[in-house]
This record gives sequence, C-alpha cells and structure tokens, in this order.
Amino acid sequence: MFSLYDETKLKAFLLEHGHKNFRYAQIEHAIYKDLACDFDAMTTIPKELRELLKTACYFTSLKIKSSVTSDDGQTTKFLLETHDGRFLESVIMRHLSGRNTLCVSCQVGCPMACSFCATGKLGLTRNLDFTEIVEQMMIAVHHLAKEDKKLRNVVYMGMGEPFLNYENVKRSIEIACGQKKLDLSSRRITVSTCGIVPGIQKIAEDFPQVSLAISLHAPTDEARRAIMPVEQTYPLDRLMEALDEYVAKTNKRIFYEYIMINGLTDRPEYAKALADLLHGRLAHVNFIPYNPGEGSSDSPMQPTSKIMIKKFQDALEAAGVPSTIRHTMGDDIDAACGQLALKEQEGK
Ligand code: SAH
Repeated sequence: MFSLYDETKLKAFLLEHGHKNFRYAQIEHAIYKDLACDFDAMTTIPKELRELLKTACYFTSLKIKSSVTSDDGQTTKFLLETHDGRFLESVIMRHLSGRNTLCVSCQVGCPMACSFCATGKLGLTRNLDFTEIVEQMMIAVHHLAKEDKKLRNVVYMGMGEPFLNYENVKRSIEIACGQKKLDLSSRRITVSTCGIVPGIQKIAEDFPQVSLAISLHAPTDEARRAIMPVEQTYPLDRLMEALDEYVAKTNKRIFYEYIMINGLTDRPEYAKALADLLHGRLAHVNFIPYNPGEGSSDSPMQPTSKIMIKKFQDALEAAGVPSTIRHTMGDDIDAACGQLALKEQEGK
C-alpha cells in the first residue's frame, strides 16, 4: 500500500493499470481542492477506478488519538498515532489577525537533546516520511475547513530537527507549495533549525523563498554549548558564516529564536553580546519565554520575567536589531514551544 500523497507512486500505478494522465489530475484535484476525505467522495473519477485505488493506496495512515483546544479557542493540539504505533503532535494556531498557522513535526522525538526542550528528552525514534508530514497538513486543512477557515502558514517547529530529515521535509514543502496541491505561498513556510549547517546551505538552493528560523538561544559559544549540544558540531562562527552566505544568496531576513531562561540566557552581558553578533546582519529576533511545561515546580529552569525580557529587547533595539517578544499560545494544553513531549510515548 502507498500514500495517495505520493505522486510518483500514484502516477506509476495509474500507468501500470492503463489509465490516462488526466486521471491523475482529477485525483489530485479531488484531494487538494475538493478536499475529499475518502475514495467514495472522489465523485469525479469512475467507480471502478475508485475501487482499484482502495486496493492499493490509502488516504491517511495517521490516526487522530486526540485533539484538544485551548480555553481561548486559539490553539488546537493533535496527538497522532503512526501506523507503527509511534506518537507525534501537531498544533493549529488561530491568530487574531485571521491567519491560521500549523506547526508540524518532522521526526518522532528528536536527537538534538537541547537541555530546555521536552521533545529533546525523548531522543529520536525515527524520521517521518514526507507523506506523514503532508498528512498533518491535510488533517489541519480539513479541521479548519469545518470552521470555514483556511490554512495559511506552516512552520516546521514541532517535534524534531528538520535538517536531519531533509529529503522528507523538502518533499513535504513541495506539496505544501505546489500550485495544484496545497498552493501555500513559500514565503509562508518557515523551517526552524537548531543550526545544522549543511541544511542551511541546501535550503538556500532549494527554497530561497521559504523563511528560515534559527534556534540561537545564546550569543556565545560557551553559553550555547551549555544548553545545546549541536554547538560542538557547528560552533557559532561556522553557523554565522553559513547564515551570511544564506542571506547573500536569498536576500532574506533570518529569524533568530532566543529562549529567555531566568539566570541562564537572560544575563545583561548576553544582551550586549547578542546585539554585537546581529548588528549589521539581516535579522529579526523572536524572544520566547521559557515554557516550563509539566512538572514545572521542580524544574531548575524558570522563565525570565516580562520586565527583564523588555530590558533585553531595549539593548537590542539600541543596536538597531529588530525583535518581537513572542506571546505564548496553547500553554494550558502543553502545546507551546518545547512542550511537545508525548506522555503516551514516555509511558511505553
Ligand atoms: N529542531 C528545530 C525545530 C524545533 S522548533 C529547532 O531547534 O529549531 C521548536 C522551538 O521551540 C525551538 O526554537 C526550540 O528551541 C524552542 N523550545 C524548545 N523548548 C522550549 C521551551 N521549553 N520553552 C520555549 N521554547 C522552547
């Protein structure tokens, strides 16, 4: 059996069974434009072909185990189970401005082991296939359609490190942005990385319009190494060199994610170091208050206070580096940054 979202396999199957090319176009239209949820809803194709498809391919392999919506109604977190009994999560964020964003996972767990991240504590179980990433998008598209809403943005900021699963992430972006497919603007796709240099180089070639976010979180090698093991493989000077090349090639502003952890990443000298690092670079900093998540009371890490974040931001502003303080969404349902941790998986 293969996924309907796998164009290559579907085309080969149709050809093998003597169907003309236009049948593929009809199926594609039924999936992505008419939003058919099963084969019987594909009324534009003959019944015999629908029956044949049922024997060879599937619409969706991910099962929705639960979907929880935050009290304010803005955030919905899906817990999804894969065909091999693994769990992953994706999150819809309905912004008040009307844009709807989906945060997708690209791996089950994550191998990067950042000290502040709940997903990082799980380790890596496996990469997701591109069809499993697309399925997350289709689940969100169908869910939003019921509310008469559309998906506008996709951020690769769920579980996993996108640049350690590059080919599948790439194929999923092609489907998200394909005109005959989900037809999202590539500017509205954001891929976030903890700083895997070869991935940064590849995405500049493959998708110069896609937005890039870097989980920087600390402005010096030493401070970064203390919380992000990736620093040992790709130290700051190598990362910044790759990012300068990225900007030269794409002319795109890079988003730097900076986590604010009390006493750890928010020291006044780091504000100066961050300003020095980004001054003169095409950059925008997003401050993310640390989300303690479950068991926060015994966590040694605590978020920085709003006032302190503002002070940090002022130092950047003085150096001409633009920034935003991210407001946390979905923390009451453990859907905020770094909280995707899968109680189910841990219990296995
Ligand atoms: N591996 C990629 C994609 C994950 S994106 C990356 O590192 O960019 C998830 C974002 O949430 C990252 O910026 C991550 O560093 C951040 N994050 C992780 N744990 C967090 C926490 N407890 N509080 C706030 N942000 C967190």
